[in-house]
Amino acid sequence: MQEERNTGTRRPIYLDYQATTPCDPRVVEVMMPYFTERFGNPHSRNHLYGWETEEAVELARSQVAGIIGASAKEIVFTSGATESNNLALKGAAAIHKERKNHLVTVATEHKCVLEACRRLEDQGFRVTYLPVQANGLIELGALEAAITAETALVSVMAVNNEIGVIQPLAEIGAVCRRHGVLFHTDAAQAVGKIPLDVAAMNIDLMSISGHKIYGPKGIGALYVRRRPRVRLKAQIDGGGQERGMRSGTLAPPLCVGMGEACRIAAAELEAESARLAGLRDRMLNGLRRELPDIQVNGDLVRRIPGNLNVSFPFVDGGGLIGAMKEIAVSSGSACSSAALEPSYVLRALGVDAEMAFASLRIGLGRLTTEADIDHAVGHIVTAVNRLREESPLWQMHCEGIDIKSIEWAKH
Ligand SMILES: *Cc1c(COP(=O)(O)O)cnc(C)c1O
Repeated sequence: MQEERNTGTRRPIYLDYQATTPCDPRVVEVMMPYFTERFGNPHSRNHLYGWETEEAVELARSQVAGIIGASAKEIVFTSGATESNNLALKGAAAIHKERKNHLVTVATEHKCVLEACRRLEDQGFRVTYLPVQANGLIELGALEAAITAETALVSVMAVNNEIGVIQPLAEIGAVCRRHGVLFHTDAAQAVGKIPLDVAAMNIDLMSISGHKIYGPKGIGALYVRRRPRVRLKAQIDGGGQERGMRSGTLAPPLCVGMGEACRIAAAELEAESARLAGLRDRMLNGLRRELPDIQVNGDLVRRIPGNLNVSFPFVDGGGLIGAMKEIAVSSGSACSSAALEPSYVLRALGVDAEMAFASLRIGLGRLTTEADIDHAVGHIVTAVNRLREESPLWQMHCEGIDIKSIEWAKH
């Protein structure tokens, strides 16, 4: 693996903002004092060291609350969205276990939601995994039909991490409220990218991640509604911090960084969305001009502006990511042990295995420039054309043979 990486002096252009984002320098700056002189334990009640870090943590808590229309008391700090999702699902399931043992989620959720649901299935819960339409969105009718008298909670992600599509949160919230079912949303990819309002959208639980919004890694938050009060069983026991829902000493530098990241994201959301939409269109137009047969995966309109997911027909998926030497992107195939598997998200959209393999997830963000886009387009076009020249299917396609009509010899 090592020698395949770009080890030259020029680093690849970063286009993987759905995987993580750099910490904004403004965020790092406000964090710095809390590593050194302001090192107090925010739970220390008896002296200045504790008071000043507690005050900083509480300001951060209100900044996180502010970006989703919540109040500060409804924010529980965690280690990231993975932990928040686990706390929301397992914590709510444990409270309702006796009377309600059914959960509803979606086939395209992040692995941490799906695996938490698997764990609950092992413990006797029943879970419905809703399918998605070809555009990546769930059908409200299917959601409503899945809810029964035993349903405790519905968990639908706000924005998908592979295809960037935005689920109809307000409509889902309305369905859940009508049926008296808790609504949890994994908003790791949505916070700071689209306007969110837990009141208007009837959201009861929301997971947030620091490092997806230009904040530090290793911190996240869970919004837990207070009116009407949502109860959760803690998954980490100890000193009873975070209103008993998540014990352990808080990390003030990380809390402060996440708060500042939310403040900046909220202030810049509108302008940055418009800028990213322009860059995304520039990229898509550039690719389509040179490669007219590419396919965009997921709804292009109900989508955050910073994501493109594109399949390239007649390209060997295995070779695609290896050919991307000058740009850092993610592919539609995930390495699991020895076997390459196509993305389960794209498969859930009905994308066939070949096309799911031959796909790229391109994430644009705060540091992406027009020059980056133009360079990336040129690089992708060159790579795809080269891979196609090596593909017998492409040769046949160029000769006018309809590949789909060929009867493949049976093994
Ligand atoms: C990144 C991500 C997570 C996990 O967040 P961490 O903070 O890294 O634990 C969960 N869900 C979605 C949709 C994500 O994009």
